[in-house]
Amino acid sequence: MHSMDMTASAIPSEGAAFLASGSSGNATLVHAAGRGVLIDCGISARECRRRIASAELDGIAIEALLLTHEHSDHLRGVRVMSRTLGIPVYATRGTLAVARADLADVPGCVEITHEAIFGAAGLRIMAIRTSHDAAEPVGFRIETPQGRVLGFASDTGVITPECAEGLAGCDLLAIEANHDVQMLEAGPYPLFLKRRILSERGHLSNVHAADAVRRLGCDRLHTIVGLHLSQHNNLPAIACDAVSDAVRQTGLGARVLTASAAHVLTCSLG
Ligand SMILES: [Zn+2]
Ligand SMILES: [Zn+2]
Repeated sequence: MHSMDMTASAIPSEGAAFLASGSSGNATLVHAAGRGVLIDCGISARECRRRIASAELDGIAIEALLLTHEHSDHLRGVRVMSRTLGIPVYATRGTLAVARADLADVPGCVEITHEAIFGAAGLRIMAIRTSHDAAEPVGFRIETPQGRVLGFASDTGVITPECAEGLAGCDLLAIEANHDVQMLEAGPYPLFLKRRILSERGHLSNVHAADAVRRLGCDRLHTIVGLHLSQHNNLPAIACDAVSDAVRQTGLGARVLTASAAHVLTCSLG
């Protein structure tokens, strides 16, 4: 259950590639029928393109960049990526306002609102309000032309009922599993940072992610991907065990994986 699902030889027609995940940088490519969107680009644009090529996904036409929030581990490469590919950046009004300087000369900014469905790259996309110490952070619900659904929520201190509603009924659930609470409490971070991470506007723990799986589990859910694992306060095996317990308790058959800072994880949505 702990193995990395390295790039498969056959590229799925509808899939998600977790290019980078964690406080050193986040980027995810969601694609269907040869077209796709990037969620965040918190690694350099050059490194992002290198990772896309390494997963043999460089034939996909990336048509939009979706931004969850303005923190640098999500924003760092957005400007160059957007300009290089000539694609617009989709973000909430609050995120666009605080990221204005970084987005000054991108080909276009499209303002999105919570729970209003919009289209990009042939995908049906809805922003879901998350709870984080950023201006107006969101996760996403993305539906493919074949009706496959990805739920994506990272950088959130809690899964609110509103957020749970947006993430319900997914085939693939990508959810933050940032820390093991005991490792965080015993770990090296200063107290203010521990409090920030544990707060309702911080980051989801493994237990939170497991709770979310208990609430959101459904028959069609086949894959759960833990996101934004802390390098200091978590281990992939601990996160997988916590979430796998929840999968067993709910009688689901979903596999549990974790995205990482260093390696690309590719998953089929079908
Ligand atoms: Zn982050
Ligand atoms: Zn953040």
